[in-house]
Amino acid sequence: MLEQLITVATFNSERPAEALRNRLTDAGIRAEVLDESGTQMLFFSTTEPRAHMRVRVPKVDNDRVLALMKEWDAKDGVLREAVRCPQCGSSHIEYPQFSRRTGMAWFFGVLAAMRLIPREYFCEDCKFEWPEKEPVKPNLDVLNWPKEHSR
Ligand SMILES: [Zn+2]
Repeated sequence: MLEQLITVATFNSERPAEALRNRLTDAGIRAEVLDESGTQMLFFSTTEPRAHMRVRVPKVDNDRVLALMKEWDAKDGVLREAVRCPQCGSSHIEYPQFSRRTGMAWFFGVLAAMRLIPREYFCEDCKFEWPEKEPVKPNLDVLNWPKEHSR
């Protein structure tokens, strides 16, 4: 049976995604990097892919990985270049926002290509959407981790 993989971090470039993947692998987690730039360009008429480098892990390891990433990020900023939700701090981000609304995705892709609707980032965890142009600074605590996550 295929293992269900879940996105734990989203990046705009390959290098930090690979670095995180390697650290997770060293920690004994079967992490992988998925490059979605081809999919974005093909189906959503995106000329400049964003949030397309996804680090994925088996779903059963999700909690452990989130704890590890929090620890590493506090120590040396492993998620410094990650795309993160300005509202909840999650790095489980989709771009463009309509990419997972299957069925209508192609239609929205055409509208976006015609600049009739803006492309936005979309947080899978809290469903927040925000525009690609103005990066919103997350509300971070002293450890560079969003306050909402410091439980
Ligand atoms: Zn969120």
